[in-house]
Amino acid sequence: MTPHGTVFSAMLQEFEGAARILNLDPGLWQMLTHPKRQIIVSCPVQMDSGEIQVFTGYRVQYNVTLGPAKGGIRYHPGVTLDEVTALAAWMTWKCAVAQLPFGGGKGGVICDPTKMSRRELEALTRRYTAEIIDSIGPDKDVPAPDVNTNEQVMAWFSDTYSMHVGHTSTSVVTGKPVEMGGSLGRREATGRGVMIVAREAAKHLGFDLRGSRVAVQGFGNVGSIAADLLVKQGARVVGVVDWKGGVANPKGLDIAALIAHVAEHKTVHGFGGGDPLAAADIFKLDTDILIPAALENQITIDNAGEIKARLVVEGANGPTTPDAHKMLHDRGVFVVPDILANAGGVTVSYFEWVQDRHGYFWTEKEVNERLEAKMCQAFEVVLQTAEKFKVDMRTAAYIVAINRVATVTRLRGMYA
Ligand code: NAD
Repeated sequence: MTPHGTVFSAMLQEFEGAARILNLDPGLWQMLTHPKRQIIVSCPVQMDSGEIQVFTGYRVQYNVTLGPAKGGIRYHPGVTLDEVTALAAWMTWKCAVAQLPFGGGKGGVICDPTKMSRRELEALTRRYTAEIIDSIGPDKDVPAPDVNTNEQVMAWFSDTYSMHVGHTSTSVVTGKPVEMGGSLGRREATGRGVMIVAREAAKHLGFDLRGSRVAVQGFGNVGSIAADLLVKQGARVVGVVDWKGGVANPKGLDIAALIAHVAEHKTVHGFGGGDPLAAADIFKLDTDILIPAALENQITIDNAGEIKARLVVEGANGPTTPDAHKMLHDRGVFVVPDILANAGGVTVSYFEWVQDRHGYFWTEKEVNERLEAKMCQAFEVVLQTAEKFKVDMRTAAYIVAINRVATVTRLRGMYA
């Protein structure tokens, strides 16, 4: 058994609930709960001071049964192998739920990008890429941005890979700048997907997004775009927090102004369009919809009882611990799980990979229409599965995902 800590064991608990219902064969159970490959690399970087610092990086390819590994790269001081493995497992289930021809992967480097210069970040990115280069490629493993990485980091990653293989490879990463093979709509895709499933879930629960109250934890790529698009659907965002604190306004925050504030100050803290809100108090707000869009393990047994929202849409990966999820479910809160709710990003990453490989690019309207169709279809299949097996949406999403990966594993047979 792989040694694991809290994040991976949360993934395992979620997996087990669904695998038991599926009566999953014990051999397949073993295969699907072990990562295929875990890579650990040391990345020496000459810092601006002249001193050399060595950063530890990980890349985990959890399962590649359905296709190349797919998943982001995270730069954060708290990155661990356990966390990266859990995130790679979640990517496996997410790609399967969204019916994409990808397996699951994830990468991470232990670093604090807020304390690094642009040159240091570029050097780190290029060295990390070079250290894992034999294991990545358009048919092997296709990274993307995650927490604290962005289009520029993907541009450096893609350039380093291209220089090594001797030709320009656009499809080795997704989430690139549009000018170098990125897809229109990719930057907004995860937040757009969150908005789409929130709308579908509200419809299912019998309320309209128009006039509904929303709270958002985390105001980065996912949280800010989801908030903006929900407001465009007529919702009111009444509270937003990030790592430093937040702001609340029962009449609804001006999201465009808040985005401008964050662009300037790097935090929502101090925004004048509402009252200050402590980060932990986001869960206490009187809202219809709560969107955790920061990091994992944020909704725990200690705060799940405070949540007043009737709908939780998990923009982040693993934001709710298994105990807290059970508490929310028992209280009648409808939770759209991460592997469904935030699948919009990887779905448009898939579109980007397809466009790069064809060398033919779609309009933003085409991208958004295809994303809308994929998200609605995935939501519908998971909802039907939840109703069929009389289970919560998370267990249902795992049932759909495990079934798809297990079916292909059986069809491919055992290579030995
Ligand atoms: P980001 O770095 O752009 O934003 C993260 C936000 O969370 C920031 O506002 C940060 O201040 C806030 N935050 C960090 N710690 C916090 C804390 N303790 N309390 C409150 N806020 C805190 O990252 P992102 O790309 O928006 O990703 C957010 C989550 O969504 C992650 O779990 C990520 O894995 C997941 N996700 C991202 C994508 C994507 O396409 N970007 C796709 C799927 C899932």
